[in-house]
Amino acid sequence: MSECTHDCSTCQSKCSDREEKESLLAPPNSESRVKHVIGVVSGKGGVGKSMVASMLAVAMQRRGYQAAILDADITGPSIPRSFGISDAEVSGTEAGMIPPKSKTGIEIMSVNLLIDEEAKPVVWRGPVIAGVVKQFWSDVVWNDVDYMFVDMPPGTGDVPLTVFQSLPLDGIIIVGTPQELVSMIVEKAVNMAKLMNIRIFGMIENMSYLVCPDCGERISIYGETGMNRLALSQGLPVLERLPIDTKLANMCDTGTIELMQEEYMQHAADVLEDLEKQAK
Ligand code: ADP
Repeated sequence: MSECTHDCSTCQSKCSDREEKESLLAPPNSESRVKHVIGVVSGKGGVGKSMVASMLAVAMQRRGYQAAILDADITGPSIPRSFGISDAEVSGTEAGMIPPKSKTGIEIMSVNLLIDEEAKPVVWRGPVIAGVVKQFWSDVVWNDVDYMFVDMPPGTGDVPLTVFQSLPLDGIIIVGTPQELVSMIVEKAVNMAKLMNIRIFGMIENMSYLVCPDCGERISIYGETGMNRLALSQGLPVLERLPIDTKLANMCDTGTIELMQEEYMQHAADVLEDLEKQAK
């Protein structure tokens, strides 16, 4: 047997490490077919994690893949609003719930699609929330999905731990703002993934700079960025740097994220597309 790479997605060996991992996995719905599962993670809330998860799904859907988003940020779900499907009906069959589709066909499941008022809080304890995330995997019929993005709750608590253990993640992408990335919170998330042998594709630095509307100059408002330091100390690539862009905020608020500019996720999408190319 060759040496363990801790990456079960590219290895067929039935070793004890793999068996232990597999025993904790939640079973997928018998009618689902999902090829790749990517977690989108952040240290804390409000850094643009949901927006990045949405943009990644849009980028892969534009490349001709079937994308999906499992909104595991149960207490702060914002995915349906970004796609303008907050009032979509979730239908069902005997096999399970059928996720509504966005205008361009992205499959989406979120707790906000199941409650009658968007602003109603989800007042549930951690284990119940973690159970709902597992149900979104096991009780939803995900139809022929090439790339599923899991919008994770921020931090390293109970629910991220459940997602890491129960979903067959190919890996994660870490999102942060420059100020947040100099803090140790993101580093904790990086270390949690490493501890659990989860591949980290890289990091996306959000709100990294401003483009002057008059002269087009890029202004790095936070100077030398935290992402550089963290990327260097952890040996992880920076996949994208996104500007503070009022158009993006506006698109999220008005449910039109599918109109985002083409170039924002090109490099990240290339890295994810490699998964498919390698599988062929
Ligand atoms: P999180 O999922 O990390 O809590 P969100 O993706 O919900 O964060 O983003 C928080 C808010 O910040 C949203 O209103 C979003 O539209 C806005 N936002 C995120 N990234 C940017 C950006 N690069 N430029 C402008 N607004 C942004």
